Amino acid sequence: MIRIGVLALQGDFAEHVAVFSRLGVEAHEVRLPEQLDTLDGLVIPGGESTTFTRLMADYALLEPIRRLAEDGVPIWGTCAGMIVLARQASHLPRPGLGVMDIVVERNAFGRQVDSFEAALLIPVLGPEPFPAVFIRAPIIRQVGPEVEVLARLPASATGRAYGASLDGGTVVAARQGHPTGVCLLATAFHPELTGDPRLHRYFLALVEAHRQPPRRPFARQEAEKGAKGTP
Ligand code: GLN
Repeated sequence: MIRIGVLALQGDFAEHVAVFSRLGVEAHEVRLPEQLDTLDGLVIPGGESTTFTRLMADYALLEPIRRLAEDGVPIWGTCAGMIVLARQASHLPRPGLGVMDIVVERNAFGRQVDSFEAALLIPVLGPEPFPAVFIRAPIIRQVGPEVEVLARLPASATGRAYGASLDGGTVVAARQGHPTGVCLLATAFHPELTGDPRLHRYFLALVEAHRQPPRRPFARQEAEKGAKGTP
């Protein structure tokens, strides 16, 4: 049975857990480093990225989650979670995970009142548009060579082309995979709020495809590293 973790420091983790449960998959709230050890996939939900980065540092979660990403365990960041995954994010006072080769702009559409819903075409999910809820959402301004763009928001959805430096519309969903050894998914919007489970299913398919033999617990890896360092 697949084990999905949802980072539960703040934000809408409960909604993600509920969608996975509806799909018949065990999803666990994660607050401590040791809870990462047995996961096959991790979701970093929407919320407030400044709070996430502060709490992730306080709870010593940054390094073990980076390690998880490097081990090829799929990680999906939605909205604030996407900001935390990014190599670079605008106006983020503390470092995030920095594991995904994207540059994001926080609050790119404006303030809370500028939140909106759009029918988004996401070709990997099929022809039916996805109901995407954008709440003080970030956008992806740049993608690295290993990053595949999964969805663009057309200017007609908001009346403005945000991040127009990327051809053909604002990038709001992307994936980074092989050959870089990681499996990362980023969505600027909130797929857990609309009752359409296709992105959760898509993430589960990535998790299935990347499933690996059980890993050694992070604490043990650290201990081994320490032991190697002693003469
Ligand atoms: N504006 C938030 C941030 O910068 C993200 C909002 C969200 O996750 N819905 O972290």
